[in-house]
Amino acid sequence: MVINTSEKADVVVIGGGIFGCAIAYYYTRNNPGKKIILLERNEICNAATSHAAALLTRIRAKKDFIPLSLETYRVIAEMEKQLNETLDVKRVGVLHVAASESTIADLDSLMKIAATFSEPATYLQAEKVQAKIPWLKTQDEWKFGFMPQESYCDPYLLGTFFARCAKLQGAEIRQGVEVTNILMEDNIAVGVATSDGNIYAGAVVIAAGAWSPVLAMEVGIGLPMAPVRSQYWITERSKLFPVDSPIVILPDAQAYARPESGSLLFGIRELKSFSTSPANIPQNINEFSFSDDKGTGDLAAVIDKLARFFPMVYDTGLKYYIAGFSGYTPDNYLSMGIVPGVKNLFAATGCVGAGISVAGGVGLAFAEMIAGKPNPYDFTNFNLERFGKIDPFSNAWLDKCAMARSQKRSG
Ligand SMILES: Cc1cc2nc3c(=O)[nH]c(=O)nc-3n(C[C@H](O)[C@H](O)[C@H](O)COP(=O)(O)OP(=O)(O)OC[C@H]3O[C@@H](n4cnc5c(N)ncnc54)[C@H](O)[C@@H]3O)c2cc1C
Repeated sequence: MVINTSEKADVVVIGGGIFGCAIAYYYTRNNPGKKIILLERNEICNAATSHAAALLTRIRAKKDFIPLSLETYRVIAEMEKQLNETLDVKRVGVLHVAASESTIADLDSLMKIAATFSEPATYLQAEKVQAKIPWLKTQDEWKFGFMPQESYCDPYLLGTFFARCAKLQGAEIRQGVEVTNILMEDNIAVGVATSDGNIYAGAVVIAAGAWSPVLAMEVGIGLPMAPVRSQYWITERSKLFPVDSPIVILPDAQAYARPESGSLLFGIRELKSFSTSPANIPQNINEFSFSDDKGTGDLAAVIDKLARFFPMVYDTGLKYYIAGFSGYTPDNYLSMGIVPGVKNLFAATGCVGAGISVAGGVGLAFAEMIAGKPNPYDFTNFNLERFGKIDPFSNAWLDKCAMARSQKRSG
């Protein structure tokens, strides 16, 4: 292989997960003729992206996420047209179940948020819920909020849709190329050193998922996020799990579930979520041992809470266990933007387990910022400086981020 040591591009993106691919898509769409190179050391979408449960959540209590997710839905339609293929988004709706005073109050305010975004949302009676979702136990005094537009998808397919469209629009996507460090001149990022030589660029974007803090620390930046494990299970098939039944969010059990081809996919928040230093994660995520017992210990610790809503859980076989790392933050807001103190460096990181749903907005935001245009979204709450100076490798920081996931009640 010829090593090219003086290659130039307008933009280099480090990491070919859904964020990197979405940025390459929007940048090429909005800036024809400009050169963007995306570098992925494995294969695109191999890490968190292909492991996601892929709820494409539209309406959340954290309102800043909503326009980003709505853009994802819009761009899916655009890419389907461009590729003349369907992504087969499963529009089954979501049912939020509220079984306590505090979650009923939360649901009422979520339904109001839906209304402000003109999103259809209705309360359902228990018997109607039962007909739609046979596995779910209901009680008349609980409240059920249904939002019919909520969907899920195949996350790998969505990530590769972004990559394929980006390529058609002129992006260079190089797999099997590792970025070893960011090249700096004083406080300006001028490119990257890779396993294939140096590439100089007008802008460098860190979109390296759980590994991002490692690259950032080499240029003196403590990126405020930590890799925290998410895990879910897929049950055996049963008539209890119709393929078109809604996604279910159970804040009182800190759990969520959705249909998966006649089975049920469900996830829980552990009493204490697991995090690790970004420096400890192997390059190939499949070499990381997430759990010796396939998460069954964590599940056993909270199963009573889940069984209140899903009594058959004790009698239902588990067929698959999936785990991966998302970049969590102490306040469960995204952590991304222009890197402070370094010119021409951007970080599309800290996805807080929502990266599939917000990918459209994130891709568009970075494409615009890199091109020197205003960010069309409000990123104030995602600001990289909001926690002050932090050490992303310290146990205290990792614990704080893990705790944020343990306390999460939404989907
Ligand atoms: C179990 C689980 C369930 C989830 N469920 C949902 C859900 O329901 N809804 C939702 O919206 N989100 C969900 N998520 C979160 C979602 O998967 C992530 O937010 C999203 O995939 C993050 O994308 P990314 O591009 O930031 O990271 P990744 O997909 O991890 O991509 C980062 C890429 O960077 C590459 N890389 C790293 N370092 C280098 C380097 N030095 N040089 C070159 N390449 C490098 C890696 O190989 C990797 O491919 C879930 C995540 C998990 C783990």
